[in-house]
Amino acid sequence: MTPARAVVALGANLGDTRAALDEAVRELRALPLTSKVVCSTPIASVAVTLDGPDPSKPGYLNAVALVETRLAPSILLEALHAIEERHGRVRRERWGDRTLDLDLIAYGDVTSDDPRLTLPHPRAHERDFVLAPWAEVDPDAILPGRGRVARLRDELAAGAS
Ligand code: ADP
Ligand code: MG
Repeated sequence: MTPARAVVALGANLGDTRAALDEAVRELRALPLTSKVVCSTPIASVAVTLDGPDPSKPGYLNAVALVETRLAPSILLEALHAIEERHGRVRRERWGDRTLDLDLIAYGDVTSDDPRLTLPHPRAHERDFVLAPWAEVDPDAILPGRGRVARLRDELAAGAS
């Protein structure tokens, strides 16, 4: 089996967010059957809740990591959840504050509408904090079903202004 290119979004808004992202990248590098982990520069973003952006919440630090892996998508997601748990994440509310959130944005060109693992991630195309760092580490990246990440990012910025 040739390795797949997986795209992982990292986010944290509690505690030492920079340390959490750095450690998460180290833990990605330590995963079995996984190599070539490349992480973007971290960027700051406003917390998004189910009701929309909320600047009164602690801000996020976000990054995107590219990984080459032979782990199957569901096994990779389990590994991401295990890393979150080691960072003390408690799953209380959806989109609530968290010490570490790791989302699987894309796994090669695999598509899935399983609610436990939807691929590509259904909200990636509307999140600048995913698109911007992803375009930084891979300027030619394609979001399966949506097109070039750099173009999606430009369209999002144009719509927001
Ligand atoms: P969120 O990141 O949306 O705030 P969680 O991290 O708590 O929320 O994830 C909620 C659920 O989303 C998880 O139990 C997971 O199984 C599911 N899920 C579905 N698709 C994905 C994906 N592509 N990446 C990460 N989690 C996903
Ligand atoms: Mg998540």
